[in-house]
Amino acid sequence: MNVDKIMNNLEKKHHGEVEYLQAVREVVESIEEVYNENPQFETANIIERIIEPDRVLQFKVPWIDDEGNVKINLGYRVQFNNAIGPYKGGLRFHPSVNLSILKFLGFEQIFKNALTTLPMGGAKGGSDFDPKGKSNTEVMRFCQSFMLELWKYIGPETDVPAGDIGVGGREIGFLYGMYKKLKGDHTGVLTGKGSNWGGSLIRPEATGFGGIYFAQEMLTAKKETFKDKTVALSGFGNVAWGAALKASELGAKIVTISGPDGYIYDPQGISGEKIDFLLDLRASNEDIVKPYSYAFEGVEFHEGKRPWEVKTDIALPCATQNELNGEDARKLISNGVRLVAEISNMGCTPDAVEEFQKNKILFAPGKAVNAGGVATSGLEMTQNSMKLRWNSNEVDKRLHEIMCNIHRQCVKYGKREDAYIDYVKGANIAGFLKVANSMLDMGVI
Ligand code: NDP
Repeated sequence: MNVDKIMNNLEKKHHGEVEYLQAVREVVESIEEVYNENPQFETANIIERIIEPDRVLQFKVPWIDDEGNVKINLGYRVQFNNAIGPYKGGLRFHPSVNLSILKFLGFEQIFKNALTTLPMGGAKGGSDFDPKGKSNTEVMRFCQSFMLELWKYIGPETDVPAGDIGVGGREIGFLYGMYKKLKGDHTGVLTGKGSNWGGSLIRPEATGFGGIYFAQEMLTAKKETFKDKTVALSGFGNVAWGAALKASELGAKIVTISGPDGYIYDPQGISGEKIDFLLDLRASNEDIVKPYSYAFEGVEFHEGKRPWEVKTDIALPCATQNELNGEDARKLISNGVRLVAEISNMGCTPDAVEEFQKNKILFAPGKAVNAGGVATSGLEMTQNSMKLRWNSNEVDKRLHEIMCNIHRQCVKYGKREDAYIDYVKGANIAGFLKVANSMLDMGVI
């Protein structure tokens, strides 16, 4: 395999799809050596087969707002690879959604899902619809119209969507309701369902909890713990609150959260009732960051800034892709950061990752760190198939085991001669080998 040739061809075919090309380059570069040591991969041209999605579905989503205006959004589902199980991956509703972003997310999802050890292929979907500022009935009408098209392509053994940015419990409920009506089935076709109707306990917290379990393993490998460490995190959505809750339970002090308008710095730490306060704001569709800075004493609001300028031991990007760049990385390093774990997907730009690795800062990529979300979705699928429900301890225990296992796989394939663990390489190789070997077993299809 020749990385430049592969990337040049891909760029010609998908010119301008920046995020997709970035994600593919990272994987291709880190598996190059293993790929070339196994000529059977080249014979079956696994690389060119794995970097293109199996199919991309795009559709129109018409809906009517509360004033009676007819609106049109674009809907997508990218079914990337189902070598090891049904397509699986979230739906994102955000104005920035485009094919490049969904293809990058779907591609990452293949390897992430493989790392979980559960039988799930990779997919992603969503829409450029913005749920922010919309009424409940508008969100419901949009979700129903979206599902009116999507239902033809999904199913519990075919493709199982879930949430992501802009798609939480409310949206999953509306989507599931419409699917159920159209199909007449009460099946586990979506995950992240409400706990009264098939959802798994711990799923809402799972991505954040899993991220902290993974970071805990990284610390343990260095004979350290979360206790008394300061943690800067970004965003305050589905993922960030679970991370904040678990990290504070383990004795860390969370000092930042952020939104698109800036970040807050709370030197006293964000835990307990402060997290509940934030969750209430979030549930009422309010802005979070500014009101928090007014509600508690000693809190600073830094408008238009990102949290990576504060002095912290640990940094956890939890908001969106490419939210931490090379300059941010240099600031964090000069302020003494010791561990950076992406809980968002591709939260760091390639130059930021390079800075961390060059300076031997512990760094782990989203596809390993945030795999607890989809892993718990996999556990939700298992519970749905068995028609029973595990209690929260049972789910949490399995989630913890899965995250420790992912950490072991990263160490196995990522440990360098100087003992530094290249988690990026480790995660990519472990995920790739499982999928590539499965593709080999099944022939050229
Ligand atoms: P949410 O929409 O629930 O939360 C995103 C948070 O980030 C919100 O607080 C949002 O603020 C904030 N935010 C959005 N854009 C920016 C920005 N440019 N700068 C700073 N803050 C921003 O999404 P999730 O928590 O579900 O997802 C976050 C990340 O985690 C994504 O990368 C997603 O792909 C990844 N992920 C999510 C999983 C899940 O289970 N949900 C599973 C695995 C990965 P506001 O609401 O004000 O816009």
